[in-house]
Amino acid sequence: MEQLINNRRSVRRTVLGQETFDGAGVRLTRVIGGPQLPQLDPFLLLDAFRSDDPDDYIGGFPPHPHRGFETVTYLLAGQVEHRDNAGHTGILEAGGVQWMTAGSGVIHSEMPQQQDGLLSGFQLWVNLPAGQKMTAPRYQEFDRQVIPVEERGDGVSVRVVAGRTSLHTQGPVSELVTPALFFDITLPAGTHFSEPLPERYNAFVYLIEGTLSIDGTTLEGGNLAVLDQGESVELTAHESSRLLLVAGQPLNEPIARRGPFVMNNEAELQQAFSDYQEGRF
Ligand code: MN
Repeated sequence: MEQLINNRRSVRRTVLGQETFDGAGVRLTRVIGGPQLPQLDPFLLLDAFRSDDPDDYIGGFPPHPHRGFETVTYLLAGQVEHRDNAGHTGILEAGGVQWMTAGSGVIHSEMPQQQDGLLSGFQLWVNLPAGQKMTAPRYQEFDRQVIPVEERGDGVSVRVVAGRTSLHTQGPVSELVTPALFFDITLPAGTHFSEPLPERYNAFVYLIEGTLSIDGTTLEGGNLAVLDQGESVELTAHESSRLLLVAGQPLNEPIARRGPFVMNNEAELQQAFSDYQEGRF
């Protein structure tokens, strides 16, 4: 009988994001959702933004719709004000997360609150399964203080935004329709990190800063590594590093997407556009 022991995930490929503009002229780097990596089921998009030049972000994202998936905003620096057509408002601050299930439809604005200084963070889109695309909109929003930090010794730490680590630290984002985990990991130079991941999950590492290797593949800051299947991930930091480790259960469903709508087929997309244009969101 063949048994796989300690089957570590290697790197299937690395991707360097593409600089682009979205919203009202916000400069960002599209890492998932561009031509190089259109999706990594269940993840539809990953945008990274980081600038201390207000011209790069001050326009923000004026009112726009979403249907059929979740948007996850994770902020490292700065402040973003959020406002939707159902009257939900709030300010996302550095270290906080907003996990928004757009479901059947949300029209919202995402506007930087600050006039200057560093704005840095991410937006990740997580697909919803066919049976949940028209679910009621839902927010899970958590400030920096309530996101637990798991210390693993030698200065290795894991901010657990969503999911549960092997050492049983549970992130505040819970009861996800599409099961996923989202960890923000800090590794001093020369340290290692290893963590089991559910075998059927697709997973990626986005290196925010530093240099590290995964099973012999070296990543530089700004690289995304798509991980192969396997039971665990093992990271070795060559320089002081910070990274996102994100994994989710693939949906394996057809995707029909255009702009802010992600459905399963063209008819549903057409319906989304007409519902939006005729004020049914
Ligand atoms: Mn949005």
